[in-house]
Amino acid sequence: LTRMYGPLTALSNVHVDVMTALVSFDRVFEVLDLKPLIRDREGARPLDKARRASDEKVPSLTKAPQAPSIEFDHVRFAYPSADEVSLASLESIARTDTAPGREVLHDVDFTAAPGRLVALVGPSGAGKSTITHLVSRLYDVSEGAVRIGGVDVRDVTLESLRAEIGVVSQDAHLFHDTIRENMRYARPDASDAEILAALDAAQIGGLVAAMSEGLDTVVGDRGYRLSGGEKQRLAIARLLLKAPSVVVLDEATAHLDSESEAAVQRALRTALAGRTSLVIAHRLSTIREADQILVIDGGRVAERGRHEELLLQGGLYAELYRTQFSHQRDEERQTEPLGAE
Ligand code: ATP
Repeated sequence: LTRMYGPLTALSNVHVDVMTALVSFDRVFEVLDLKPLIRDREGARPLDKARRASDEKVPSLTKAPQAPSIEFDHVRFAYPSADEVSLASLESIARTDTAPGREVLHDVDFTAAPGRLVALVGPSGAGKSTITHLVSRLYDVSEGAVRIGGVDVRDVTLESLRAEIGVVSQDAHLFHDTIRENMRYARPDASDAEILAALDAAQIGGLVAAMSEGLDTVVGDRGYRLSGGEKQRLAIARLLLKAPSVVVLDEATAHLDSESEAAVQRALRTALAGRTSLVIAHRLSTIREADQILVIDGGRVAERGRHEELLLQGGLYAELYRTQFSHQRDEERQTEPLGAE
């Protein structure tokens, strides 16, 4: 097994890239001919059918489908051990910081109401990313359940689950390909008009229109070099094209200039509106807008509430605010106020 570590680590990067691109994960398994640890249960149903049959309030047929709730019901979780060879466990092989089998989430219990924004904050290694991984069922919980729209994610097909969830990671990965093809990773049958509309809504349409080759412009490391903020907006445009009802977002930590920052914030506001969102939040502006902030510490929800309430408590959140976010408060004063369109 030791000799496999190098290639396995490389494969785990493939996994991450594919995840970022919102592409079907299953294709990777097919190509590598590995048995995934996480797969459809016998009798798994598409999520929308399962939701209709569940107890959660069913929207009438005349209304557009509602965004679902996300529920963590007393979730405990340990990363799988290295000998469970599958793509899902490759990441744990690549990381040596946690002994496999050590529980990293202890009794995590919360509900993100339909269409609402829940912000996860907390120190490094607290378990924020792990929580977001469980929503798309990259791993199965050890105890408890994760439910979307009242349905246990283990009871629905992975394809239908992941079609419902838009994932945006910190570093938007772009393939060395045209903007059109980078967008189509989100939805292969998207027309140019739909792609352009998504780019506009993500505040990047103007830039693409100004490029001499427009949608045919090749981006990526060896192509047109987009700035950090532009890449983020392209990732948001991809999300809008996919139009998922659930969004899992790891907000970028990289500092952007204030103009780019304001454009990203505007794009995000469009992208998250009406969708149930779980955001690993690094921006004070996002945290302030959150309907619920969960302060994660040592694999537990240490505090929960809205910004002002948590500040008044004078606990961990207040401490994080002082140490991590107060400089952003000063910067915000110099930029466009939130809520201004
Ligand atoms: P950060 O803010 O630094 O990204 P986080 O709050 O997102 O941290 P997680 O990445 O969820 O924290 O990590 C929670 C715990 O799980 C840590 O102890 C971490 O070392 C461990 N861990 C994370 N990913 C894996 C993995 N793939 N395999 C094994 N352990 C992991």
